[in-house]
Amino acid sequence: FFEETDDKGQIKQWHMMSDVCKHCAQAGCLEACPTGAIYRTEFGTVNINQDICNGCRYCVSACPFGVVSFNHDTGTATKCTFCNDRIHNGLGPACAKACPTQSIRFGFRDDLAGVAEKRVEELRKHGYKDAQLYGADPKGDLGGLNAFFLLLGKPALYGLPEKPKLPQRNVLVDSLLSIGSALVVGLGALVAFRGRGGRGDA
Ligand code: SF4
Ligand code: SF4
Repeated sequence: FFEETDDKGQIKQWHMMSDVCKHCAQAGCLEACPTGAIYRTEFGTVNINQDICNGCRYCVSACPFGVVSFNHDTGTATKCTFCNDRIHNGLGPACAKACPTQSIRFGFRDDLAGVAEKRVEELRKHGYKDAQLYGADPKGDLGGLNAFFLLLGKPALYGLPEKPKLPQRNVLVDSLLSIGSALVVGLGALVAFRGRGGRGDA
């Protein structure tokens, strides 16, 4: 959560942002991992096998979004898994389940992208000219993100890189793995804000 202010320091807008792993189609963390601890699931998500991770932290610096943390207790890397246990048991991630306004949604990526595009159109009609999707285009940066966002301003406002890039060049293997995923799911923060006075609820 953060407040956007104008030139005079007055609050213009509240913004909400979920700092989840984007489960990138071309994942820098996965490419950088020297042990094979990071793998892609049949859902298209990217996970870390804690039994294999040796704690080298290459993935921490390889992630363009800074979402990988190092757990000093376990000596391993850790991050959002889209609630791996839940999605493998027919449940959505806990964040999507808990969100009372359905601002975070879980489902098939293409379905969510369609809903999000309509939402952008609605918002623009209501005066939010900067409404835009981030990471929804499968032909976009990093092959599209499996967690994409509806923003009400430039990505930098939300601490997101304008054009996220892989720190490595070798994207081919990961791209092929991603294309081969039988089932690709997505998590869309469809309306990552709640305006004052309730305007803009999902
Ligand atoms: S957001 Fe970072 S940690 Fe998540 S898949 Fe992409 S590169 Fe890996
Ligand atoms: S910290 Fe673990 S998951 Fe990250 S790159 Fe090293 S071995 Fe792979």
